[in-house]
Amino acid sequence: MKTFADLANEWVSRLQVYEPGLPIEELARELGLRDVRRIIKLASNENPLGPSPAAVRAMRRAAAQMHRYPDGGAFYLVRALARKLSVTPNQVIVGCGSNEILELIGHVFLDAGSSAVMADHAFVVYRMVTEMFRARPIVVPMRNFTHDLEAMRRAIAADTRVVFIGNPNNPTGTMVTPAELDRFVGAVPEHVVTVLDEAYVELVPPGLRPEALRYVREGRKVLVLRTFSKTYGLAGVRLGYGVAPGEAIALLQRVRQPFNTTAMAQAAALAALTDAAHVRRTRRVVRDGLRCLEAGCRRLGLEFVPSVANFMLIKVGDGRRVFEALCRRGVIVRPMDGYGLPEYVRVTVGTPRENRRFLAALAEVLDTA
Ligand SMILES: *Cc1c(COP(=O)(O)O)cnc(C)c1O
Repeated sequence: MKTFADLANEWVSRLQVYEPGLPIEELARELGLRDVRRIIKLASNENPLGPSPAAVRAMRRAAAQMHRYPDGGAFYLVRALARKLSVTPNQVIVGCGSNEILELIGHVFLDAGSSAVMADHAFVVYRMVTEMFRARPIVVPMRNFTHDLEAMRRAIAADTRVVFIGNPNNPTGTMVTPAELDRFVGAVPEHVVTVLDEAYVELVPPGLRPEALRYVREGRKVLVLRTFSKTYGLAGVRLGYGVAPGEAIALLQRVRQPFNTTAMAQAAALAALTDAAHVRRTRRVVRDGLRCLEAGCRRLGLEFVPSVANFMLIKVGDGRRVFEALCRRGVIVRPMDGYGLPEYVRVTVGTPRENRRFLAALAEVLDTA
């Protein structure tokens, strides 16, 4: 008798499985808690303030039209994004989260005869996508928890098609300087597409923010990825986008499913784009929250990696054990062994109350070590 595994493509069983943040409902069941509000989730870099109220209103209004297929090309959203980013609509593609755009990049640029360059502690999806398309990952060590662009450039091989750069990177919360990025983009060979994943860019102080879209306007082989999941608080609706020269976007469009983003998501994103006040509030809560977490770590004598995003790596000893002990206290963070950082946990900035509860639980857990 043949099993499903016998019938599957042989490389599929070797793929690494993504470990998502533990859902609140699942932990509540495990702990036998009826009231999910007693659990705080600081595991997936979500927005502690929730979605923009304007987006919630737009989704309520859109609900009555859900018998219709969405506009597959997301006409209005693409135009609104293009206007906001000072690019043209043919330079924008939307997807089911920027994770889908990463997969479209794999479809277009990677295959069994190619390779992709990424950092050892970069967002794991880069490696997963590379392996999903049977390309060879070339993994380059970070320096001081930051992408080492010079080493990454040197690691580019003749068969390399893509370089992935998370900026700011998840889970390290670090970013490269605009000057380093300029140097890299200026020196990268012709046969390589540079993917700049800017999932957290709206949270970065303007002075530190590289002008990645300028590379697109200049027609460089650069693809910029952004998302509504983090700063805009819409992780649940799944909407991300890519910005690149028109020729690259046209290729990505060929491998996109006709209805890859939902009408609900398009309505939410369009409204969220106009809600500058929500973005400002989010920035403030994240900045103050980072200060609170940093101060808490110093009090506990813990090392941490200073972050420019809405999460922070904290060195706790046995990360998996601390993660489990925090779960028992109703606090979900992310263990980092899957990222080659077994001594760390990653905590997302929460509301002031959530941050305090996390620090109190962490103090208890470390005390009982
Ligand atoms: C969260 C995240 C994404 C994308 O998430 P989507 O929800 O799929 O848009 C992409 N890159 C990094 C580095 C992230 O942390």
